[in-house]
Amino acid sequence: MNKLSKLISSLSESETIAMTRKSNEMRAKGTEVISMSLGEPDFPTPQHIKDAAKRAIDNDYSHYAPVAGYPELREAIVDKFKRENNLSYEPANIMVSNGAKHTITNILMALVNPGDEVILPAPYWVSYREMVKLTGGTYRIIRTNIEQNFKISPRQLDEAITKKTKVVILNSPSNPSGAVYTEKELRELAIVIKKHPGIFVISDEVYEHIIYEGSHFSLAQTDEIKEQVIVVNSVSKSFAMTGWRVGFMAAPEWLVKSCSNLQGQVTSGVNSVAQMAALEALTGPMDETVKMRDIFLKRRNIISKAFEKIDGVKVMVPQGSFYLFPDVSALFGRSFNGNLVSNSDDLMWYLLEEAHVAAVSGNAFGTPECIRFSYATSEENIVKAMGRIADALQ
Ligand code: PLP
Repeated sequence: MNKLSKLISSLSESETIAMTRKSNEMRAKGTEVISMSLGEPDFPTPQHIKDAAKRAIDNDYSHYAPVAGYPELREAIVDKFKRENNLSYEPANIMVSNGAKHTITNILMALVNPGDEVILPAPYWVSYREMVKLTGGTYRIIRTNIEQNFKISPRQLDEAITKKTKVVILNSPSNPSGAVYTEKELRELAIVIKKHPGIFVISDEVYEHIIYEGSHFSLAQTDEIKEQVIVVNSVSKSFAMTGWRVGFMAAPEWLVKSCSNLQGQVTSGVNSVAQMAALEALTGPMDETVKMRDIFLKRRNIISKAFEKIDGVKVMVPQGSFYLFPDVSALFGRSFNGNLVSNSDDLMWYLLEEAHVAAVSGNAFGTPECIRFSYATSEENIVKAMGRIADALQ
């Protein structure tokens, strides 16, 4: 008899767990493994944010916080949307949760019924697929490739929408591809969405501040569909605060109310001290965020150039986030030392064995031609890893 519920049994194990286990075994045997599989900035949280958290402790922010977030934090989020995205919201449109991950789960739980469809453009962030399963809904994937810069066209979106579609999840800048949708592209997608007033778009903008070319445009800035767009963001990536767990959304008030009901029963308000740290992040100086972005840009250039020199690898230079997602499908079918590499999982293991570099197979993101390398690691590590990868792929 299966002790676990059908729902939990349907969830996949995180695709990076096996990789982390194997890397750790190799490290224990003395091999120097370079990790390029991490999804978080390798910087500490800026000092002024840490100081704000210490002050919050001393000022006794130790009681249950309001479920949807402290009023001053929700006000600061309203100001952030006005200042940075030219979007007008009221505090009643804002809700704070335990990271963008929790925010997106709340929204999907609130909107999706069993049998409803959620459209996921691939490559997609791994957790979307599993979150949809938790709702009992199903997902419909739109495939993209490197030739189209991993971005869906309005036509592809139009063709993917069915009577069952309830939600579309769009992520720009993207994890894993680093693609960034332009204002023009988003306005074209908005025309398709407007034709279907019963559909909602979750616009995941957590990498908003890690963008190298052009500027960030939010889908919610397309006025004609603003009521259909739920903007999700967090302090995790922009302020090197992944462990603090503070994310937020801007949405129609009825949705904030229902997510608040759900959160009130399951987790209550977000950790009080972390909320005060997030308040400082959103109202304080942005110098550290800009500095981190500049360092990521330098690393992006190094890793992109190094991959461009490798035969059989197609590179799209990422415009945002901190991942490179080369198409390595031309290498499939080759073998070395009796190891046949027939897909991106095989290549991922091959690179771990031969180059001692940990990456993530594109399979995890619904794009099996590719493999993801995170450059949220030092320049020295990137240079060393690229030397080893080039040798291993020769
Ligand atoms: N959305 C995307 C695209 C991500 O890459 C991540 C984290 O890796 C998240 C959401 C989750 O962010 P948070 O730490 O705010 O939960």
